[in-house]
Amino acid sequence: MRKTVLYIVVPCYNEEEVLPITSGLFLGKLNELIGAGKISDDSRVLYVDDGSRDRTWEIIRSLAAQDRHFAGIQQSRNRGHQNAVLAGLMEAMEKCDAAISIDCDGQDDVNAMDGMIDAYHDGCEIVYGVRANRDSDSLFKRITAEGYYRLLSFMGADVVFNHADYRLMSSRALREFSQFREVNLFLRGMVPLVGFKSTCVSYDRTERRAGKSHYPLRKMLRLAFDGITSLSVRPISLVAVTGLVIFLLSLIGILWVLITALCGSAVPGWASTACIVFLMGGLQALFLGVIGVYVGKIYLEVKGRPRYIISARTGEEGETEAGKEEK
Ligand code: UDP
Ligand code: MG
Repeated sequence: MRKTVLYIVVPCYNEEEVLPITSGLFLGKLNELIGAGKISDDSRVLYVDDGSRDRTWEIIRSLAAQDRHFAGIQQSRNRGHQNAVLAGLMEAMEKCDAAISIDCDGQDDVNAMDGMIDAYHDGCEIVYGVRANRDSDSLFKRITAEGYYRLLSFMGADVVFNHADYRLMSSRALREFSQFREVNLFLRGMVPLVGFKSTCVSYDRTERRAGKSHYPLRKMLRLAFDGITSLSVRPISLVAVTGLVIFLLSLIGILWVLITALCGSAVPGWASTACIVFLMGGLQALFLGVIGVYVGKIYLEVKGRPRYIISARTGEEGETEAGKEEK
C-alpha cells in the first residue's frame, strides 16, 4: 500500500522570531511519523508566508534549501490568517493524501498529529483538533470564546466546540472543500459543511514560543462577526421577528390613542410622540445596518475575486527572477 503523503500547512505572518524555534518542532514530528512508517518520506512542512514585512520569507527559503521536507509559498500581500490557511491547503490538495493546518507559533501541540493520522487511517476524512482546556488563555478570552461558540450554535452554525484551525483534512475532503467559492472565509464553520466521516482529537494549547499575537481584540471581533454573518442568516430572521412584534405593539398603541381621543381625554403628548419617533428611527437604522452587512457580503461574493494569489514558490525562485528580468 502506498504510504500517506502528509502536508503540514503553516501560515506565517511576520514570524521571524518564532520560525527558527518551531521549524525544528514540525520537522521533528514529520521525521518521527516517517520513521514510524505512518507517512511517506515525500511528506512536507508547507509554509505560507502571508505577505510578511520582516525576514519570514527569507527564513522559509533557507529552510527549504536546507531540508527537502520544507517547502513554502508566498502570498503577494497580507490577506489574513484564514486566506493564508486556504492558500496552503489548496496548494497541498493535489500533492498530498492528507493535510494538517497548524499555527506556526508552537501553541498547538504537534503530538496531536499522531492521533489525527491514526484517525485518518481509520477512514476519517476530517479530524478536528480540539482544545482540552483553556488554561493558557486569559479569563476574558475564555469567557468570550465560550460565549461565542454558544452564540454560533444558537445562530444555527455548525461549529466544533473549542476547535480553531488545527485540523487534518484528506485530499478528498479538500477537493470538495475547494468548491466552496465564498470570499468571506471562516474555515472552522465551513469545513463541517463538507461532511464525510470525521472525529476530534484533543490536545493542550500552550503559550506562544516567541513573538507576539497577531490577533488583537479588533481582529478577533472581526473574525467573530464574520463567522456569524458568513454562516448564518438568523440575524435577518431575528430582525424580521422583532419588526413584526413592534408592528403588533404599534397596532395596540394606535388602538389606545383612538380610544383616548374618542373619550375626549387626549393630552398634548409631545414627549410620547418624540420617544416613539426616536425609537422607530433608531430601530430602523439598526435593522438596515444588519441588512446592509449581508448586502455587502453578497456584493463581495458576486465579484468572485480570487481568494489568494501566490507570487512565489520555493524551488521556482530562479524562474520567477528570470521572468522579472525579461520585463
Ligand atoms: N497569521 C497569518 N496572517 C495574519 C495573521 C496571522 O498568517 O494576518 C498567522 C500567524 O503567523 C500564526 C497564526 O496565523 O501562525 C495565528 O496567529 P496568532 O498566533 O498571532 O494568533 P493567536 O494564536 O494569538 O490567536
Ligand atoms: Mg497563536
